[in-house]
Amino acid sequence: MTAESDKGGPGFAPIPPLEGVLAVDDASRNAVAVDLGNISYEKPSAVLRPRSAHDVAAMVAFCREQGISVAGRGQAHTTFGQGLSNGLVIENRCLDRIRFLSPDSAEVDAGVLWKDLTRAAYESSPRRTPPVLTGYTGLTVGGTLSVGGVGGIFGGLRTGLQIDHVRELEVVTGTGAVERCSPGQKSDLFEAMLGGLGQCGIITKATVDLVPARERARTYVFGHTDAGAFFRDLRAVIDRDGVDHVYAEFVAPGASPSFTLFATTFYDLSAPPDDQEILDGLEAAPEVRDRDYMDHVLSIDNVIDPLCETVGWDRLVKPWFDTWLPGSKLEDFFADVLPTLTPRDIGPYGAGLIYPQRRAHARRPLPRVPEPDGSEWLFAVDINTVSETPDPEPGFVDSMLARNRRLMARTRERHGGVLYPIGSVPLTRQEWREHYGDAWEDFHAAKERYDPDRVLTSGPGIFEAPETAGEV
Ligand SMILES: Cc1cc2nc3c(=O)[nH]c(=O)nc-3n(C[C@H](O)[C@H](O)[C@H](O)COP(=O)(O)OP(=O)(O)OC[C@H]3O[C@@H](n4cnc5c(N)ncnc54)[C@H](O)[C@@H]3O)c2cc1C
Repeated sequence: MTAESDKGGPGFAPIPPLEGVLAVDDASRNAVAVDLGNISYEKPSAVLRPRSAHDVAAMVAFCREQGISVAGRGQAHTTFGQGLSNGLVIENRCLDRIRFLSPDSAEVDAGVLWKDLTRAAYESSPRRTPPVLTGYTGLTVGGTLSVGGVGGIFGGLRTGLQIDHVRELEVVTGTGAVERCSPGQKSDLFEAMLGGLGQCGIITKATVDLVPARERARTYVFGHTDAGAFFRDLRAVIDRDGVDHVYAEFVAPGASPSFTLFATTFYDLSAPPDDQEILDGLEAAPEVRDRDYMDHVLSIDNVIDPLCETVGWDRLVKPWFDTWLPGSKLEDFFADVLPTLTPRDIGPYGAGLIYPQRRAHARRPLPRVPEPDGSEWLFAVDINTVSETPDPEPGFVDSMLARNRRLMARTRERHGGVLYPIGSVPLTRQEWREHYGDAWEDFHAAKERYDPDRVLTSGPGIFEAPETAGEV
């Protein structure tokens, strides 16, 4: 074992033999006491930097015996303490090997970043890419597979979520067992892990799909001030042959343009896209951005990462609101909710986002999505509020969390929306149960089976949340 302290922290001596490091010093523990939201704070007793699944298993078994809670941490880019713990935090980033690339799949450690996998697959021969990529790609494979992974920069029109393109997982369960699971082997664990917010295990490895990658990406960018025209163009491009990815941004009333639509087609230089065909009948005239595939993949990273340098973006407060909408309710939702937003609800460094997802490709029981409504579409909508400074005015956090609760109730009741639990929406235990609906029984049974002593991932509060709204 390599240890930062031979003594171990409170409750951590004597620890099992490890290949990695168990850090109990203050700096290591403080470094993982917050996430990107800067709203929740929980300082763990120790931090595991594992070298193998065996390290994870040994420490989970140890913590189970000692009654110490455990949470896996990827990049901690969720915003409401989902990956925090007062016990042991496991830094999955230390499991960072790309183990195997083939023309149609990759086996990777859970701590590999999607941008690193994409780069490696793109540089391999033949050139490949994951079929679904989140907007920001500096996220871990284990982290996004634990939430769902909506196609922010690639995927959604002709693919599922990232979790729909997983072949096999290696998981350390809450009992400390190392299991391999897939659709054909321990499928209950497989389904409980994908989009399961780390409730039943810690993913240590994943085998994910790869597909052929094109050389270039041409993005048509449409600025809209008229909501009606925006929604007509949005609905036209998501159904158009030749368009491979679509997303949109919106701002609070008053700013212009109110909506910006991004439609991308991937192509090889030998077969450039036919602009006329793609743009036929659309109401707005686009600006055209044409770039290498990898420049497209990293385009959101190239906005966010510099903001961390210039305005300390990672230290700003982020009470994010994220929801799924049924396809038929998108326009109604915006007519109802957009007028209630002010510029402070998004902030100069925040974003309002819309991601279309074809329902038929989103096949996993988790995360939850809205009931079928006759539309073949789902839309993920984010109000990604970011404060202007790391110390916003007193009451900012409370008022935004209260807004999120109000918005979620309104979205659910009026528009059939369902929470996408990456952000900052406090829920009671009963609300979590309602959130999971008819998937609750299986999810709960998997929790009982694979984490019977409730050692894992208390951050989201699914099995631990307060009973009443007054307490959340
Ligand atoms: C700028 C930005 C853009 C984003 N764009 C998108 C997007 O386009 N689409 C989308 O779907 N999401 C998007 N997200 C949200 C993102 O997918 C989630 O926040 C995701 O969880 C982040 O990955 P992470 O590695 O930071 O996970 P973390 O936040 O570290 O972990 C998330 C949860 O999973 C648990 N966990 C982490 N690793 C494991 C593991 N190996 N096994 C089991 N449980 C684990 C944690 O305990 C926690 O509960 C975006 C976030 C940011 C900041």
